[in-house]
Amino acid sequence: MIDLTITQALEKLKKREISATELTRAYLDRIEKFGKDLNCYITVTPERALADAAAADARYATDSALALDGLPIGMKDLFATRGIRTTAASRMLENFIPEYESTISQKFIDSGTVLLGKTNLDEFAMGTFSKTSYFGAPVNPWQMEKRLTAGGSSGGATSAIASGLAIGGTGTDTGGSIRFPASITGLVGMKPTYGICSRWGCVAFASSLDTPGPIARTVDDAAALLAVMAGHDPKESTSARTEDINVSATVPALVPKTLRIGVIKEFADVEISADMKKAFDARIADLKSMGAEIVEVSIPNILDALAAYYIIAPAEASSNLARYDGMKYGLRVDGADLIDTYKKTRAAGFGDEVKRRMIIGTAVLSSESYDVYFMQAARVRRMIADSFRDAFEKCDLIVCPSASGTALPLDSDLSPLEYYALDLFTVAMNLAGVPACSVPAGMAENGLPLGLQVVGPRFADMRVLGLAKLIETAAALDNRPTKIMGK
Ligand code: GLN
Repeated sequence: MIDLTITQALEKLKKREISATELTRAYLDRIEKFGKDLNCYITVTPERALADAAAADARYATDSALALDGLPIGMKDLFATRGIRTTAASRMLENFIPEYESTISQKFIDSGTVLLGKTNLDEFAMGTFSKTSYFGAPVNPWQMEKRLTAGGSSGGATSAIASGLAIGGTGTDTGGSIRFPASITGLVGMKPTYGICSRWGCVAFASSLDTPGPIARTVDDAAALLAVMAGHDPKESTSARTEDINVSATVPALVPKTLRIGVIKEFADVEISADMKKAFDARIADLKSMGAEIVEVSIPNILDALAAYYIIAPAEASSNLARYDGMKYGLRVDGADLIDTYKKTRAAGFGDEVKRRMIIGTAVLSSESYDVYFMQAARVRRMIADSFRDAFEKCDLIVCPSASGTALPLDSDLSPLEYYALDLFTVAMNLAGVPACSVPAGMAENGLPLGLQVVGPRFADMRVLGLAKLIETAAALDNRPTKIMGK
């Protein structure tokens, strides 16, 4: 049962061939069996899941089913869930139980989904391997004995979905945290246009970049989730306007002959694995043979995106994380006086990477550095956004790698800068706010999956998914959970 895609499961639920309760039990059993080893959930919510499933079954029985009724999903533990611990994978919020529901998780409730639990991630979503989690890193179910990373920061979600411990789920993408983990676990991860999925109630990392989005096994499944997640939110000041948001559960069938597909010139000189090169060339060749026109486009400053991102993101993070002072919520370690309490609380509550970011962020915002670092980074960001806009005059969509290769071992000994460099292919899209979807595009010789990104103009999310579907079909990668990690 856990090999069913969202589309297939919905079919069967509607025809009453399976019940939401049966489906949910199958996932809960599997969580029982593999959850500990994969470490993909921080909190599992079995009672809530069974109650959600019973409610879904009651609606199916009266033909009043909702859009995603009875589908067991995992919610990244960055989205506040009322009455359910929400940790952001930080000691700071280890025991934080929100009294409100994030807009995104509320939309999942309103569409009938079953909450299996809260998925693991990097602390405050800062990281690339989910290794900065206070709860330990999730494991990639592909070749599990090798203990590879499932990526980050949404690595708990990708570990769970690829292994059949959730049928789909949510991620957030500030610099690649949906697309990178999806690419190395054989999944579809969609970072929508900035602003179409509400950040309200989602623990903030870098507010001008944070983008909630869906993770699933197929492009159709990702669209089904996105259709529920997207929408204007009056509670959120950067939420896109209703008239700009054009999202539906049905992926458009694009006609390749009418498409101009852009390949980014500046990425051609970036070193990628031979397997990735092969997969990229193969998929581009497929599109060409289907009649698409391949054009070279230039995003002149794209290789500076990393530098700009690692100034802007920490700057915003240092400001956002100032709220954790031990007074209002979260951890509190009492000190001799107020200042001492702040210091002790923050020293104990945050991990090393989060502290590093706050220090970088505070430094680049200081009066001596603001002009040379923060303002410069903001200019680079503007240029990148403009270049994307210009590029989309010459092409309809862009295709590029999601990562330089396949999943690396969790115990890889990389320096902070080496981790940051892994985001080379993803951060520019966050700086520009454009939609980008990572889709399984091939298998490497080592038997691990590879992902390519499809990037589109702002608000062309459905067009992005349309091309992702063409690539998915051409690559025909088998990502059934029982095939990846057995029954
Ligand atoms: N790896 C990037 C970082 O550590 C991206 C994280 C994210 O998208 N949340 O900042």
